[in-house]
Amino acid sequence: MGFKVAIIGRPNVGKSTLFNRLIGRRVAIVHDRPGVTRDRREGQGGIADMAFTLIDTAGLEDATDDSIEGRMRGQTEQAIRDADVVLFLIDARAGVTPLDAFFADHLRKSPTPVILVANKCEGKAGAPGLYESYGLGLGDPVPFSAEHGEGLDDLYEALLPHA
Ligand code: GDP
Ligand code: MG
Repeated sequence: MGFKVAIIGRPNVGKSTLFNRLIGRRVAIVHDRPGVTRDRREGQGGIADMAFTLIDTAGLEDATDDSIEGRMRGQTEQAIRDADVVLFLIDARAGVTPLDAFFADHLRKSPTPVILVANKCEGKAGAPGLYESYGLGLGDPVPFSAEHGEGLDDLYEALLPHA
């Protein structure tokens, strides 16, 4: 229903937590360890009156090829192709990592529009990572906390042009 939104990012940034938050019921399992999400999950999500199909990916975790390029293949690539818009998550508490930068380079070349989401921004610990993420060249980051449900208004505004 509506448009299709894919959640992309390296392991442990909070993709499944965001998925669960927007789906409104717990259909994806969230674990502390990366590598536990095996399947691509799709569900009907929404924010307020905005409805969309949401795709949770675990492409990186599923890598059988150890190279970074190999890890980009498969599920993640397919989700980017299928989606009308991509939510690219970073962990603002961890800051921008080389793998985030690699993803960003790839996403900048992709025709699918990208919304940069700086997750784990509750409190003050995310501020340096939030500012650092402006350097990824993907536009202004949306400060967000999937765990606490903060930033939904800004995410709504960012999604609106794609609805
Ligand atoms: P995924 O591997 O990208 O799907 O990440 P998960 O959704 O499994 O989350 C990884 C870890 O980050 C879990 O321990 C979550 O509880 C935690 N996490 C997710 N969102 C937030 C957030 O907004 N703030 C904080 N502090 N932790 C979060
Ligand atoms: Mg996950």
